[in-house]
Amino acid sequence: MDLFSCLSPFVFCSFASGSSGNCYYVGRQDEGIIVDVGISALQVVTALKKNDLRISDIKAILVTHDHIDHVKGLEVLTKDHPIPIYAHSDCLQGLVEGKATKNVDQGLFHEIEPLQPFEICGITVEAFPVMHDGRGAVGYHFNYEGHTLTIATDIGMLDKVVKEEIRRADHLSNEESARFVADAYHTGMKNIMLCHLSENNNTPERAMQCLYQQFRKKHVHPDVNTSIFPLPRHKSTGFVYL
Ligand SMILES: [Zn+2]
Ligand SMILES: [Zn+2]
Repeated sequence: MDLFSCLSPFVFCSFASGSSGNCYYVGRQDEGIIVDVGISALQVVTALKKNDLRISDIKAILVTHDHIDHVKGLEVLTKDHPIPIYAHSDCLQGLVEGKATKNVDQGLFHEIEPLQPFEICGITVEAFPVMHDGRGAVGYHFNYEGHTLTIATDIGMLDKVVKEEIRRADHLSNEESARFVADAYHTGMKNIMLCHLSENNNTPERAMQCLYQQFRKKHVHPDVNTSIFPLPRHKSTGFVYL
């Protein structure tokens, strides 16, 4: 029996996740998409190599918003490797005006419309707006042959009932994120990955504890087939099969 035949053809890999830098790979094992370049170009190329990928396998870069922890390496990476950059028009404008990104080749820019699905290497991509003080902030939903992934990061508010001030908060608290996940959970969820944990005032253990507390509170019993784990801040995860 071929063990690998039961693995999904759609993979996710976190290269870095946290307030000091964010970068993810989404795609097949031979080509795909990078979401955010909040680490150096060299770190991106090194992380790709670790996963048997080359920069030429990257067909698009999707940007969630223009904060430095999401775009730090974009200019250098795309100078050497002219990869199309997809983002909301407000975010693209933010890149043009941003200190670290003002010299990114605008010829690479592709404007995305929230909630208008489009396709990159056979993967259907749909951006959705999120509340955040970054410009044109969006999350992304991916679908490849029925395998799905949602990346929602830097969300200032998930629940309309939450007070106005919280909307301005840079990041959701553990409690809020946990409550949202517990509410949204269904047994079809294969992976729940806690991302973008703050460097100073949060730990993976605390975030996980919080999530399980909310599960208990809401009488949610995660299925044995659902993996729940925090993404490391500086290390590559290796492929997660979606
Ligand atoms: Zn941000
Ligand atoms: Zn961020």
